[in-house]
Amino acid sequence: MTQAPVTVIGGGLAGCEISWQLARAGIPVTLHEMRPTRSTEAHLTDRLAELVCSNSFRSDNPHNAIGLLHEELRALHSLVLAVGDKHRVPAGDALAVDRDAFATEMTTLISNHPAITVRRDEVTQLPETGDVVIATGPLTSPSLTAELQRWLGQEHLAFYDAIAPIVDADTLDLGVIFAESRWGKGDGADYLNCPMDKPQYEAFVDALLGAEKVAPKDFEKDVHYFPGCLPIEVMAEQGRETLRFGPMKPIGLTDPRTGRRPWAVVQLRKENRAGTAYNLVGFQTRMKYPEQLRVLRTIPGLEQVAFFRFGSVHRNSFIDSPRLLDAALRLRTEPRLRFAGQLTGVEGYVESTACGLFVALALIAERRGLALDGPPPETALGAMMGHLRESYTGRFQPQNVNFGLFPAVELRGKKDDRKAAYVARARVAFEEWRTSWMERLV
Ligand SMILES: Cc1cc2nc3c(=O)[nH]c(=O)nc-3n(C[C@H](O)[C@H](O)[C@H](O)COP(=O)(O)OP(=O)(O)OC[C@H]3O[C@@H](n4cnc5c(N)ncnc54)[C@H](O)[C@@H]3O)c2cc1C
Repeated sequence: MTQAPVTVIGGGLAGCEISWQLARAGIPVTLHEMRPTRSTEAHLTDRLAELVCSNSFRSDNPHNAIGLLHEELRALHSLVLAVGDKHRVPAGDALAVDRDAFATEMTTLISNHPAITVRRDEVTQLPETGDVVIATGPLTSPSLTAELQRWLGQEHLAFYDAIAPIVDADTLDLGVIFAESRWGKGDGADYLNCPMDKPQYEAFVDALLGAEKVAPKDFEKDVHYFPGCLPIEVMAEQGRETLRFGPMKPIGLTDPRTGRRPWAVVQLRKENRAGTAYNLVGFQTRMKYPEQLRVLRTIPGLEQVAFFRFGSVHRNSFIDSPRLLDAALRLRTEPRLRFAGQLTGVEGYVESTACGLFVALALIAERRGLALDGPPPETALGAMMGHLRESYTGRFQPQNVNFGLFPAVELRGKKDDRKAAYVARARVAFEEWRTSWMERLV
């Protein structure tokens, strides 16, 4: 029996990966890509799977979370990884690609696949019937954005991310940092506080003002920040005391080492239930990454801190996935509509590809009458997808894959040992899952 086609909207990394996986499984696809009829602020060509900025898929070393994700995607026959490997250019341990050769081959393979029909048009209204995957990325066209707002509610679609750095709990100096919630409310262990005296605060503000920032793209220059999402350097520019009356306010806190209220504090809040990762509360920033390392390590207690992710603020459409989607990334209120790629709140070329591949597997499973079980949270793919299901902090923000998203490993040792333990556990879990599931699916 012929299968009903799936409509995929968006011929970026996620949309191409989904289309390829579905077609490979014998499911016909109609893929809509609006370029070149209409472009985005960042794309330059009419090619599918265009890389809009860097040509790097980041570290290919499986001892990093991103390299581990590469390894898993290769084992799942990802098209993006296969074509990326073919057009690899030397870049140390990173997987960097010749962007033109990469996008050209992706376009040819997708366009020539007999089960895929590519339509070069802008989708402005969602189809009324059939399975649909929306993979229109961080720069979803304005008309479709308006349509999505109608379906999802305005409050569930964001246009900018404002991300505070996330740090590794094992690298905090708990001899300096103290646990306390303001006014002793809640569980004391929910917040950790890095206390500053006046000279430390003044020096920190100077370092912040002098740090190099990422220049906004032309289309990001008129960003109107939401209250509560102002980058810390913008607050510092408004006045030297602004931070001390904002995210660094010390009220309701007493430093047990001095018995007094500190001059200012940097608060850390648990990022996950296990408490292996903490975010710096209200510390969204556009400082360049090396500058974040330099400036934020001047905060008392963070001198040796390791970052799971750095802060950032950029144009990025994404939906509130934990509230809106089920485990297969279907819209809870209309399960024939699915979301994939960066629009779901994963971030980066590889993570968007991974999300696309996951959605394809879930859809293939559904068409086979199965419910996809896994991938387990111990794997890089499972950890990444887990981020879309639960927002522990209650304020969902995009993330790229990092070990802070994985369930904690028991081992408490040197950093390298811990990483190795994450990787070893992930490999076993992934292989068990892959062998039990993949044979049944494709
Ligand atoms: C300025 C900028 C710089 C970035 N730099 C990096 C980087 O250096 N490294 C990195 O890893 N990630 C980077 N990212 C993130 C990266 O672009 C995404 O992670 C990745 O491309 C997302 O894949 P996707 O398939 O979800 O979306 P995309 O790759 O953006 O694909 C979405 C596709 O949908 C199409 N589309 C949009 N609306 C419609 C519509 N209504 N109808 C039909 N088609 C439509 C678009 O034309 C596009 O081809 C950057 C993003 C931006 C905006």
